[in-house]
Amino acid sequence: MKKILVGTHNNGKFKEIAYLLPKKYKKISPIKLKIKSPKETGKSFKSNAKLKVEFFSKFVDYRVISDDSGLCIKALNNRPGIFSARLAKKQGSFLKAMKFILKKLKNKKSRSATFICSLSFKDERGKITTVQGNLKGTISKKIIGKKGFGYDPIFIPKGKDITFGQMPKIKKMKMDHRFLAYRELLKKIKI
Ligand code: IMP
Repeated sequence: MKKILVGTHNNGKFKEIAYLLPKKYKKISPIKLKIKSPKETGKSFKSNAKLKVEFFSKFVDYRVISDDSGLCIKALNNRPGIFSARLAKKQGSFLKAMKFILKKLKNKKSRSATFICSLSFKDERGKITTVQGNLKGTISKKIIGKKGFGYDPIFIPKGKDITFGQMPKIKKMKMDHRFLAYRELLKKIKI
């Protein structure tokens, strides 16, 4: 069976990326290989996704895929953006980070937000392809739903009236920013 390293330590992301990839691959986690995460020193989702793929591919001679993703909120100057994971760390948990965001948005007119995912793929010859998927939506007034991970319970995707936290996992995985980025990747390369 062909192997691919799914370069993330986030279990929610690992499951989503593994779901998108063809069945022919054995999906390997860096946690199993005891590889730590690199420092995210990039200034954009794309540069961080590429940096992760370059880092993880030092440890294996097979294909590697990594993502960098986050929630950009218009009224907060597109924050937390690339700092989404770091905001949760700083606040102490995702629940606290979501409460922090809801408080910040209390008197704001706009609740527009975009979930962004950049995916980077490196083939065994060393060629790297990096793409991005953007999913528009709004931030809910309350934290709703127990499904999903991260900021899912405050994000209502455009055209829906429930948060990702309320949506069945499979439904979310077929429409989210990771799915959209993967679709872009398939337009560029054969996986
Ligand atoms: P990073 O890509 O490792 O910097 O982490 C991105 C962070 O963005 C994650 O830890 C989550 O907090 C958040 N995030 C990214 N994608 C999703 C998603 O699909 N649902 C909820 N939160 C997400």
